Amino acid sequence: MNGDRMDRVVVVGNGIAGLTAADTLREAGFDGELTIVGDEPHPAYSRPALSKALLLDSDDLSSHELPPAGHGAKELLGVRATGLRLDERLVTLDDGTALPYDRLVLATGSRARRLSDLPEELTLRGLDDALALRSRLAGRPSVLVIGGGPLGMEIASGCLAAGCRVTLVSQGAPLLLQLGPYLADVFVRAAREQGLTIVETPGSARLERHDGSARAVLDDGSVLEAEVLLSAVGDIPNTEWLADTGLVVRGAVPVDSHGLVRPDVAAVGDLAAFPTPQGLRRLPLWSSAIEQAKVAARALLHGDDAPPLRFQPYFWTEQFGLSLKAVGHLPLEGEPEYVDGEPGGGPALMRWPHEDGTGVAAALNYRIPMPRLRRMTQQAA
Ligand SMILES: Cc1cc2nc3c(=O)[nH]c(=O)nc-3n(C[C@H](O)[C@H](O)[C@H](O)COP(=O)(O)OP(=O)(O)OC[C@H]3O[C@@H](n4cnc5c(N)ncnc54)[C@H](O)[C@@H]3O)c2cc1C
Repeated sequence: MNGDRMDRVVVVGNGIAGLTAADTLREAGFDGELTIVGDEPHPAYSRPALSKALLLDSDDLSSHELPPAGHGAKELLGVRATGLRLDERLVTLDDGTALPYDRLVLATGSRARRLSDLPEELTLRGLDDALALRSRLAGRPSVLVIGGGPLGMEIASGCLAAGCRVTLVSQGAPLLLQLGPYLADVFVRAAREQGLTIVETPGSARLERHDGSARAVLDDGSVLEAEVLLSAVGDIPNTEWLADTGLVVRGAVPVDSHGLVRPDVAAVGDLAAFPTPQGLRRLPLWSSAIEQAKVAARALLHGDDAPPLRFQPYFWTEQFGLSLKAVGHLPLEGEPEYVDGEPGGGPALMRWPHEDGTGVAAALNYRIPMPRLRRMTQQAA
């Protein structure tokens, strides 16, 4: 344990990174006072479910729920951290109080990037956004989704499944940047077969109000209108409350390989940029948030004696009747080796080999235990 007092840990942010940090602190033996501050009124939930099962479920509104937390922390929900005084070790809150800490976890995640400040522009980041969208979809409105990344495509898939007419605007081919051409093509074909209209544009869409309603204008001047307009164009880390601390660099909080900003402060999840072979990067993914939080919580207690982050990216998506799990760095160039199954849309287990014998493993509509998928990245199949 670091030499000084270690009685109180404060975790700011009640998403998966904050929850995992709190659980790991307990597992690693911290039995002092643990407090979690979260500005959403809900207990921690599964964010990935919001654009998947929660949009699809007919009556079941529980797909996002996580098992009850076992960390026994004092949870201050619906409370926002407004500032941090590093020298005094104090987190200030929007209810006018301040929380002292001995160790601090920054886990305030990110929010949806917006294209405009028009109220008609919906985004999907939180549970309340998802529930509001669900209720709009019940009336089967026409939907315009702007953004051809995994989130935009999942939302488009959910809206189609709800019986809506859906158009998706994508800068270039959907999913190309995230998955590479081979897998992107598999998803785009399935999306088109299910009735998604895809509009590719080289530039970005602009949103404007016209005759009392909102619409999207593309670079070539074409105009797209729909009853529901939703953008999924990336995320912005929630770092404003750290503005005076000097901890924020280019919009994120850089950390070392233990997830630490300094010996008494960790930063984990979507707001943290951690060392990767490509330099300091944010990797705003669920499993990344979990792995970072596990490492950082132990490092807060045990310093450099704790193991550093050895993160292997894991990506999954569910859309248009397809489920993909991929272990390793994306996007993927070229064609895969088929370990099982064959090209054409059926269940398939694939591998993109690297020259050194490792590779990226992907399972498409294929049930496989995670440890086996991970092992496929390490050895020739
Ligand atoms: C709809 C959707 C689907 C996704 N699907 C996938 C997927 O399929 N696979 C995948 O790997 N990843 C997916 N992701 C990304 C994944 O959910 C995130 O990477 C992950 O949730 C990040 O966790 P986090 O705890 O860092 O941040 P968050 O989940 O954003 O949690 C941060 C919490 O802190 C709160 N907060 C912010 N500011 C303050 C403050 N000042 N004071 C107090 N609290 C504050 C926030 O409101 C939030 O509750 C998806 C994301 C979304 C939005």
